[in-house]
Amino acid sequence: MKPARHSQTLRSPALAYGGATSDATPGITRNEELYCEAVALRSLATRHGTPLYVYSAAMIRARLKAFARAFRGVPHTLCYSVKANSTLGILRLVAGEGAGFDVVSGGELQRVLRVNRKAAGKVVFSGVGKTAAEMELALRSGIMLFNIESASELNLLAATAARLKKQAAIAIRVNPDVSAKTHPYISTGLHQHKFGVPILEAQTLYERAAKQPTLKVEGVSVHIGSQITDVGSFQESMERVADLVRTLREQGHDIRYIDAGGGLGISYEGAQGSFEKQIGAYARAVTAPLRGLRLHLLLEPGRSIVGPSGVLLTRVLYRKTNNRKRFLIVDAAMNDLLRPSLYGAYHEIVPVVRGSREIEITDVVGPICETGDFFARDRKLSLTSEGDLLAILDVGAYGSVLGSNYNTRGRAAEVLVDGAKVRVIRKRESVEDQMRLEAR
Ligand SMILES: *Cc1c(COP(=O)(O)O)cnc(C)c1O
Repeated sequence: MKPARHSQTLRSPALAYGGATSDATPGITRNEELYCEAVALRSLATRHGTPLYVYSAAMIRARLKAFARAFRGVPHTLCYSVKANSTLGILRLVAGEGAGFDVVSGGELQRVLRVNRKAAGKVVFSGVGKTAAEMELALRSGIMLFNIESASELNLLAATAARLKKQAAIAIRVNPDVSAKTHPYISTGLHQHKFGVPILEAQTLYERAAKQPTLKVEGVSVHIGSQITDVGSFQESMERVADLVRTLREQGHDIRYIDAGGGLGISYEGAQGSFEKQIGAYARAVTAPLRGLRLHLLLEPGRSIVGPSGVLLTRVLYRKTNNRKRFLIVDAAMNDLLRPSLYGAYHEIVPVVRGSREIEITDVVGPICETGDFFARDRKLSLTSEGDLLAILDVGAYGSVLGSNYNTRGRAAEVLVDGAKVRVIRKRESVEDQMRLEAR
């Protein structure tokens, strides 16, 4: 449990208390309300309603640049993992910085193509269950690389490519049997997980792939999980993969790419440490085992690019006390942000306008008819009144993308802040929107 934090800079440069309040409201003075870049969150809530996702463009750009700097010593392509946040406005921003994309479905590929047709040349396609239709779309759009996860998938891709008279560049995603030391639902690199091919079996698969004229063996791929903060796990898995690359080359395979996957964690509790330092340690862990191999490195970060850039604004509907237990019932719910319900994930929650210095211990819950519909349990928060705004922090990744319509709640609107500019990148979903595909 963490105390409510009132540091001057919460998530620099995206989020800070401060700024000059030109629209001086009685009772609100300088340094008392939360800003995203140059924009007061309170004004966004008033104009666009709540619950509302707000993202900082500056922070996303800064993180992409930090990745580029940390890996500047090795030839590499950053393929942003679309599933972390696939809103077109976010993809457009990422594409504008020159990044490629990692997709796990045909739908995600279509989003990328909508943003930039030419981005296909920098797309890797991952996932354990690609369908023939998805493969066809990817082949026709000319993606860079397929990450193959089973023998059956290899056969289907070879056949699909033959039918289209195309050649598919492939890597095999290996399962290095390395523990990622993260939540069991987002750990993927142990042999009991559904992901990848065991390293020992991979060699047989490479042999089979090399015999298929419609497949071109180009890489080895690995992804051991998400929200990993121990860089030693990355190093261990890259060492195993580097050994495999050496073996495969001895066997005559022309391996150009090594895809290190994503998974770098962020700090959900307290202030973010220096990202420069963290990304530097990550880069060393990933690249040290590759020394001398002359490979082109592919990186698939998602959370570490967009996670800290987003906040979810929500308004307190009701205060309620059951016996001695306190609840803040807010207008956001598990359909807007599932991570606390799904993983028991911790998200810091802060008042948008600093108010009382008095601290209370309370649950923060949504209106959905599920006990699992909560954002915080027994959290220390400054005393909040009905009608007050709260900001749930670090929701840029695996936030809006996990949204649903449970309880016929429309998905939240999303805005992208860039300096003093605000762009609505997803409108609030109406009930009419939700019923459109249903028989009347
Ligand atoms: C989810 C996923 C990623 C991104 O993971 P993050 O933890 O968001 O960095 C990258 N590659 C693959 C194959 C994935 O499934």
